[in-house]
Amino acid sequence: MKVKPKYLVSACLAGEKCRYDGKSSEDKKIVQLVKKGLAIPVCPEKLGGLPVPRPKAEIDKGDGKDVVSKKSKVITEGGTDITSQMIKGAKKTLRIAQRYKIENFFMKDKSPSCGCGKIYRKGRLIKGDGVTVALLREKNIKIIPK
Ligand code: SF4
Repeated sequence: MKVKPKYLVSACLAGEKCRYDGKSSEDKKIVQLVKKGLAIPVCPEKLGGLPVPRPKAEIDKGDGKDVVSKKSKVITEGGTDITSQMIKGAKKTLRIAQRYKIENFFMKDKSPSCGCGKIYRKGRLIKGDGVTVALLREKNIKIIPK
């Protein structure tokens, strides 16, 4: 019988070298979930069209909710506005979750896309969600930080 995926997971947790610095954040339990067909890896920033490696980026003001509601932007350390790519990646991630009827997401904490509860601002951790997490929470997808 074909296994039905129950989770979306940040692709870098599944071992994909998709982080801004070209590395992964491999988590053995997540790798196993993917191997068993129980989880689908997604990298919202790659889905939004951003390259690997890429410059570090931060949410300018507030958190991902403010980016989703167009009150804030995502800016790289070099000053480039990548808000549209971040929103595009978040929407594509949501569509994948809806297509597979997935209601749980293991997210890599502290990222401007996947961060859940904590994100970086000027190199310091502050309370807040990344852009993709903010959009998924709006649709009642359960977020599990990793
Ligand atoms: S966007 Fe998410 S999945 Fe992609 S590298 Fe960053 S934390 Fe990992």
